[in-house]
Amino acid sequence: MPRLFLGGNHKCTGTIGSLKTLLAQFAEKSIPEDIDFVVAPSMMHLPLAVEEAKAPIQISAQNCYFKKGAFTGETNIEQIKDIGLEWVILGHSERRHVFGESHELIATKTKTAIEAGLKVIYCVGETLEEKEAGKTEEVCAGQLEAIGKVLTEEQWKSVVIAVEPVYAIGTGVAATPESAQSTNAFCRKWVSEHVSAAIAKDISIAYGGSVKPSNAEELSRQPDIDGFLVGGASTSPAFLEIMEILV
Ligand code: PGA
Repeated sequence: MPRLFLGGNHKCTGTIGSLKTLLAQFAEKSIPEDIDFVVAPSMMHLPLAVEEAKAPIQISAQNCYFKKGAFTGETNIEQIKDIGLEWVILGHSERRHVFGESHELIATKTKTAIEAGLKVIYCVGETLEEKEAGKTEEVCAGQLEAIGKVLTEEQWKSVVIAVEPVYAIGTGVAATPESAQSTNAFCRKWVSEHVSAAIAKDISIAYGGSVKPSNAEELSRQPDIDGFLVGGASTSPAFLEIMEILV
């Protein structure tokens, strides 16, 4: 059975004050142990989040680089591990499309992060143009194949897939439950055919893209949606409402 997953991606937002307030609000709520409740603040606020977050809240980085050295502006995996993190988001559409990260780079980062003992929230998803051209499955398959080429079957146990159609991210318009179910089911089938049936049965496949309390219920009822990766609605108590709908 896939484990329920709820990730909050704060992207490039937040201040010390807003993060402290949010984590204090989360701390007042009892968060079930059977869900991975993961908060990903900006890199700048990770040490603060580690200090302030109460179990079972887990903290994730939003990105990492796969080696240390002369890479100005980057944060390496060792540093992420050093502050006590277990999670990193990789392959987010903003990394792919705004910063031009390639399949190869993202796959190298994914492999290296997992080898170092991190769990990876691996994002896939098509643009509106690709969806309209009927290429959703081809695009997601290509993104899965990039990591499929480098990961062992065992290493897939450290992956949560987040299916995030690019047209739904930050637009307020989520994918329809039918469309989200269809893409998530396709990703599970891909894993079954290219990794193993056992991994496909247990891997958590989340949906992301304009998830909010008003649409979470119907999305969460879809059999292949095991949770959500939430952006905008994750920086307010709405995130807790989404959790209550999910569990
Ligand atoms: P959104 O972002 O919920 O603001 O659409 C989702 C994401 O980018 O992970």
